[in-house]
Amino acid sequence: MEIVLTETAEKAAALVAGEILCQLAEKKSLVLGLATGSTPIGVYRQLIDAHARGEADFSSMHTFNLDEYMDLPEGHEQSYRYFMDEHLFRHINIPQGNIHFPPASGNDLEKRCQAFEQGIRDVGGIDIQILGIGSNGHIGFNEPTSSLMSRTRVKTLAQKTLRDNSRFYQPGEQPPELAVTMGIGTILDAKTILLQAFGKKKANAIQATVEGPVSSFSPGSVLQLHANTTLYLDPESSSQLKMREYYQDTRKHQDRLRQEGRL
Ligand code: PGA
Repeated sequence: MEIVLTETAEKAAALVAGEILCQLAEKKSLVLGLATGSTPIGVYRQLIDAHARGEADFSSMHTFNLDEYMDLPEGHEQSYRYFMDEHLFRHINIPQGNIHFPPASGNDLEKRCQAFEQGIRDVGGIDIQILGIGSNGHIGFNEPTSSLMSRTRVKTLAQKTLRDNSRFYQPGEQPPELAVTMGIGTILDAKTILLQAFGKKKANAIQATVEGPVSSFSPGSVLQLHANTTLYLDPESSSQLKMREYYQDTRKHQDRLRQEGRL
């Protein structure tokens, strides 16, 4: 796990977008795993800007979103499909057929979740998975106590997640209590994982993710088992880390070795 401490969320977004654009330049058919929520918006803005400047071509890219709420009507403003259309897809040249979401309505959900996973394998697996983290440590909608080997499936949302997300719903509107999410095992299959976390609300989850024991009670901690994960943290989200100085030293040495062309 590599820890990158940035001064601001904007700087983190620029680094993450830079990594995506760099890989896209190497591989036009890049496969991106996408997250929703407030955290990745800065990255999507940078990708849109790069496209507007003529510097990024998304016409062969495939995307797989992490999760979707169950049974929201198509086009609902709180659906993650709507979020992605607004914050990324309608501003770039990705073909509609290359956009994939977990099945979150209708029947045969298990079979269709397996088909979603097969879809990921069919394009060679996820090259870069973008992640945020919940204040309870969830990744995707894998709530605490999720199986660390889980695959795409229906999950019941934790009360804390429902409270965190209630701000997006009108008073009196009932937020969905179920979602379909990639499993933790699905996420761990990604070749590269880039997780961003911003704000004080995430500080405890980040401390447990980086420095706690690997535990299903803190799903982000499983990323300790992934060989190519980088966390981009602003000063508030990293404020509870005990080994901050070590992470700064590590980054300094890695940057130097990269500049010298030795990494
Ligand atoms: P946020 O949500 O980006 O809106 O903070 C992250 C998450 O719950 O995974």
